Amino acid sequence: MRVAVVTVGDELLSGDTVDTNASWLCDRLDERGVSVERITTVPDRIADIARVVNEYRAEYDAVIVTGGVGPTHDDVTMDGVAAAFGREVVPNADADAWIADHGDYAAADLTDGTTHLPAGARMLPNPEGVAPGAVVEGVYVLPGVPAEMKAMFETVIGEFEGEPTHVEVVRTSEPESALLDRIAAVREEFDVTIGSYPGDDVRLKVMATEAETAAAAAAWLRERID
Ligand code: AMP
Ligand code: MG
Repeated sequence: MRVAVVTVGDELLSGDTVDTNASWLCDRLDERGVSVERITTVPDRIADIARVVNEYRAEYDAVIVTGGVGPTHDDVTMDGVAAAFGREVVPNADADAWIADHGDYAAADLTDGTTHLPAGARMLPNPEGVAPGAVVEGVYVLPGVPAEMKAMFETVIGEFEGEPTHVEVVRTSEPESALLDRIAAVREEFDVTIGSYPGDDVRLKVMATEAETAAAAAAWLRERID
């Protein structure tokens, strides 16, 4: 399964907020063998959201959009997603009913628009807050508040499946440029993908669909590097 993540918010683009939602989602999806092929951040602007959602829904099996969901003036993500599908944003009866059942208030008491979702959307209850999320044909719209985003994503995680990869990590003090021959050789010898991440030392990430293959390739590397 191939997925794109779209994070929405002017505060992400100005550097006021670090985009922890994207990395958290990538981590959860990676654990399940789902491959995330795009992370795109867009401003709180309907046309920008619509354009990128439209492009990605054609290309990927699912699109996860987070941020800009709620009742304030800059929360336009539902409008952007609706526009991507050429739909209106309309009051959602399931959202009204869910809030009436679970909140301390009725939908009518909430800020206008809180329960408005793209027409035909499946409503996602918010286990940690008020503003509901939505699913429209493989496009999942989640809140931006990290605790709400995580709790809501956990309710749909079963809809994201891939082929899990097995990972072994090999660390070395050799410089990355010196390792090229052994990285090439291990890729010839075993059915593995290698990630090379230089930092204080170099971290080699050995990935395979079979646990034994990843372990054998990592052992092979450890014998040949310092
Ligand atoms: P919003 O979704 O714009 O209403 O944002 C609600 C809160 O969640 C704000 O404090 C945002 O800064 C924060 N937030 C929104 N998107 C993200 C993100 N991608 N990563 C981390 N925090 C975020
Ligand atoms: Mg925002």
